[in-house]
Amino acid sequence: MVSRRILLGALASLAAPALAFAEGDGPAKPSVLTRKGRRTRAALKHQATDKAALDKALAGVTPLDGTAPPAAQPAGAASPAPTDVSPDEALGRLKQGNAIFARGGASIALPAAARLAELARGEKPFAVIVGCSDSRTAPELIFDCNLGELFIVRAGPTVGREALGAIVYAVERLGASLVVVLGHTQCGIVGAAVDVATRHVDPRGAMRETLLPILPSVLAAQDKHPADLQDAAMRQTTRDVAARLKIADGVLAERLGQGRLKVVSACYDLAAGVVAFDA
Ligand SMILES: [Zn+2]
Repeated sequence: MVSRRILLGALASLAAPALAFAEGDGPAKPSVLTRKGRRTRAALKHQATDKAALDKALAGVTPLDGTAPPAAQPAGAASPAPTDVSPDEALGRLKQGNAIFARGGASIALPAAARLAELARGEKPFAVIVGCSDSRTAPELIFDCNLGELFIVRAGPTVGREALGAIVYAVERLGASLVVVLGHTQCGIVGAAVDVATRHVDPRGAMRETLLPILPSVLAAQDKHPADLQDAAMRQTTRDVAARLKIADGVLAERLGQGRLKVVSACYDLAAGVVAFDA
């Protein structure tokens, strides 16, 4: 059993790695990324046993001096090209795809060999879906999309630095113009966080790393005295994560300012099959 005060205290320390990027790594602070890059490079150097492996491992890691990242692309990948899908067009595609899914239809077919070969040469997803790992929320299915169309980060309702890096990669290198933070009804992880907040259950082990970053959103929702705390907490969590993503990285902030990127939150209703966007 833990009190609300102890929970908040724990958040200040244990939750920091998962959400700290939103609090302290705004666009004007590239030095944090540089320091991160130094640690990562050092670790990779230690692990790599030959030059080829080292060069491959270092591809894409932020340089020590904060200069532009290496131009090297993943083997076989196409050259990065600006997406020709605007943020609003991308949002429209997802809404249209979900409407098809919610009606019980599907327009996609498994890709033929020629399409697989094309995808092997490079990907150009038009949207990033930051979703829960829940088995009932597969983004390609609920948005009626095929291979190569969605870049998916499924790490639960939180976004740690590794996941943030993947999102930035998809936007900067692959040209995705939309990031959707997707929550869903009956989310077990959010429910467990609600239990921590309301029943003062002390999360143990690795679950702490997953649940504690959600607690600020759960407590914020709790303060509003909603009829359905779990639903309110899920929606608060997705809105908070989306808001923090907007200031979490210079690349994302720049593209948002240029109108080349949108970050929106959304909720998927498991029973209805419908995604409700907050934009
Ligand atoms: Zn979930």
